[in-house]
Amino acid sequence: MGIIPSDGTRSHVLLFPFMSKGHTIPLLHFAKMLLHRSISVTVVTTPANYPFIKESLTGTSASVVTLPFPPATNIPVGVESTDKLPSMSLFFEFATATSAMQPHFEHLLHTLPCVNFMVTDGFLWWTLDSATTFGIPRFVYYGMNCQSASLSIEAMREGILYGSQPDHELVVLTRFPWIRLCKEHFDPSFRNPNPSSLSHVFLMKLMLSSQRSHGMLVNSFYELESTFVDYLNAESSPKHWCVGPLCLAEWTPKVYSDEGGKPTWIRWLDQKLEEKCHVVYVAFGSQAEISPEQLEEIALGLEESEVSFLWVMRREGWVAPEGFEERVKGRGIVVREWVDQIEILMHGSVEGFVSHCGWNSVLESLCAGVPIVAWPIMAEQFLNAVMVEEDVKVGFRVETCDGSVRGFVKREELKKSLREMMKGEKGRKAREKMRRLAQMAKMATQVGGSSWSTLRSLLNETC
Ligand code: UDP
Ligand code: UDP
Repeated sequence: MGIIPSDGTRSHVLLFPFMSKGHTIPLLHFAKMLLHRSISVTVVTTPANYPFIKESLTGTSASVVTLPFPPATNIPVGVESTDKLPSMSLFFEFATATSAMQPHFEHLLHTLPCVNFMVTDGFLWWTLDSATTFGIPRFVYYGMNCQSASLSIEAMREGILYGSQPDHELVVLTRFPWIRLCKEHFDPSFRNPNPSSLSHVFLMKLMLSSQRSHGMLVNSFYELESTFVDYLNAESSPKHWCVGPLCLAEWTPKVYSDEGGKPTWIRWLDQKLEEKCHVVYVAFGSQAEISPEQLEEIALGLEESEVSFLWVMRREGWVAPEGFEERVKGRGIVVREWVDQIEILMHGSVEGFVSHCGWNSVLESLCAGVPIVAWPIMAEQFLNAVMVEEDVKVGFRVETCDGSVRGFVKREELKKSLREMMKGEKGRKAREKMRRLAQMAKMATQVGGSSWSTLRSLLNETC
């Protein structure tokens, strides 16, 4: 690759992730992929997000620069990340406020060495104007897979989202008739027909800005969802470049110099591995809002299932049912800290994942060959869950008490899914399929693989 031109100057890429963990982490993996290819990287963020990014990039030559986060009505001062919002109902206000960063961003672009291309988050739609002003190609990062993007686009085109059918009635997309969907699978903000609502205005800006950008950078790999990559590249512009799974880019098992340096939960998993005991990992990402009643059912479902579990539960102020942790002692643990999720999924004792189906979590599980009990909570997670269960067949959805897409899950339903996943035939089949996909994901990112080749073409075109 002609990354270092003959005059010795290096190619330089600017990354500007959106201020949430799920949108930032994959772009930091991407930063490492670029650095590995001798490309200079500048990551743009805000002061409160700086420490996490700086720490993730320790030992690399990436520069991290900050721009002030603009004041906004209803967003408490110091809250610069959606995982810190008092409520996700403030999401659109938060995302809309970022556009006030544009003058600062442009001032920064004046001071930086020549930028070959930038990758900025889809939610930072206004960065396209700056990119155009400075003549820099902009790639858009959404953190979404091609299947969910295709279904959203097609549902919009076929007029389903604003149609009059009841939310729970099955709808058939003429382009993808094999996928069983109803309106409830799509985010309510997508279904809001009021053209002057904040969400509607925001989504329109974001879509227009994406369409006019140079390309879409996708954290997925061609073999996983070729039908949808082909659909997007034939029917929607700009070109979608699948360069993932990004989490595999630089992944190597963590080495600890002594046992004491290991997080307590990894030591616990080591012990389970020694006991030949299979563990289910339970986690809902960085920002899902789950009611206290639902958390209680999760606790009781885990307890009654009799499976071994590691539950990451960081909800402040929530108190587990009385005696819960005592009763499950030895069989299950609750972790209330930020964990290295990939490290957990890659651990030999973990054989199942109860997941909210955030796209990063699904991909990380796939890379580790761990099948999924899908429990979507918000955004496009419901579409990801359909993909997990019906298309890729690497897991199944936990049932809700009323059979609806977004309904409450009772402890019996969780218990049934956990037992099926850890001991049943459905779990065994999903695990087999997941392990095959883990191999395919690895091959895609290795020299000559589809994602490796796609990244090479992208860099040849831009650097
Ligand atoms: N994550 C982590 N430790 C935690 C919680 C989350 O490393 O304690 C990571 C997880 O591995 C994933 C990201 O945060 O890379 C969450 O992204 P995802 O798309 O799964 O869900 P979101 O948080 O965006 O809903
Ligand atoms: N989109 C696209 N390609 C992608 C990702 C998104 O064209 O790879 C477009 C698509 O029209 C999608 C829209 O961007 O429906 C909004 O995506 P967003 O992430 O906001 O969806 P949400 O998370 O709200 O469901």
